[in-house]
Amino acid sequence: MSNQFLNLANQGVQKLHPYQAGKPTDELERELGITNIVKLASNENPLGLSESVKAALQKEVAELTRYPDSNGYYLKQALAKKYSVELNQVTLGNGSNDLLEIIARAFVAPSNEVIFAEHAFVVYPIVTQAIGAKAVVVKAKNYGHDLDAMAEAITENTKLIFIANPNNPTGTFLEKTELYTFLTKVPSDVLVVLDEAYFEYADNERRGNAIAWIAEFPNLIVSRTFSKAYGLAGLRVGYSISHADIANILNRVRQPFNCNALALKAAETILQDEDYLAAGVALNNAGMKDLCAFFTKHNLEYIPSMGNFVTVNVGSTCDKKTGDEVYQQLLQEGVIVRPITGYGLPKHLRISIGTEAENQRFKQALTSVLNLQ
Ligand SMILES: *Cc1c(COP(=O)(O)O)cnc(C)c1O
Repeated sequence: MSNQFLNLANQGVQKLHPYQAGKPTDELERELGITNIVKLASNENPLGLSESVKAALQKEVAELTRYPDSNGYYLKQALAKKYSVELNQVTLGNGSNDLLEIIARAFVAPSNEVIFAEHAFVVYPIVTQAIGAKAVVVKAKNYGHDLDAMAEAITENTKLIFIANPNNPTGTFLEKTELYTFLTKVPSDVLVVLDEAYFEYADNERRGNAIAWIAEFPNLIVSRTFSKAYGLAGLRVGYSISHADIANILNRVRQPFNCNALALKAAETILQDEDYLAAGVALNNAGMKDLCAFFTKHNLEYIPSMGNFVTVNVGSTCDKKTGDEVYQQLLQEGVIVRPITGYGLPKHLRISIGTEAENQRFKQALTSVLNLQ
């Protein structure tokens, strides 16, 4: 499409493509004229909003003529307490995407290089390119991060390394010992962002505690979100935990009111709601087991996942369809999943784990679309 202002845009921006979000349910409803759509496309929490958050938000509504607390004091305090860090190590964001962008904008110059993995989260190339910096994409190993190759890709121009653990869209997971060894190889003037958006879903024993490593590796920034396991995707709130001097710099760049009042209140409330978190994780574990067993039964190769989604190769069936084709056919059945051709995986689809009923609808729809027996 021609755009008369394109040559006015920054060079990096000229080559950007807008982020492709999961198709919204109402859009498909309008297109198909049906209402019982199942959306398993954006790794949202299938439990719905927690009752504790609903009650807290009702109270907060009356205060909406006021600006929110620009420092997010109460939420930062709750996070600092939960993770045993100082308040000045916490930075809040309008979703953790906001933080990924703030970090890049605060530290990366156009002459710098930013390292991330093939098939890693698409926001990393977007924020890198928007600045005009050089993206160094390291080839994946078994669909996940090849940390040895990533360490070898560091040059004197490297400023930032993004690592998603678990990774989206592949669900691959890095063991704590691998990550620790990697950190020992990174020079102290190269920042490492460990994006733990799915931390709460990862196995308790294996996931480790990267926040505790910040004392030893002050160049490490850990980011997490309230969008996934805490079920607040629509409110947009995430956070990073870092050395206080890094948080101080991020704080200079962020917009003064980047977290709105409802988001702050909801996040503060859900942090106390341990039952909600546990119920969501249990539902996810059961659904993951169910879908993986279904894929195994039908010889559909999937990538073992530590997140709240699973990525499956639908192009390996006898009719050899592409992921995009199967995605389109599933839409006709009222089921929205995520094609990931843009991540370099044209035969795969990413399925968010839903409720038992939603997973059932997906399995039926896929059975019909792929003619599974
Ligand atoms: C979902 C996701 C995020 C978080 O998104 P926000 O809603 O902006 O907090 C961050 N990183 C990865 C890898 C994700 O999948």
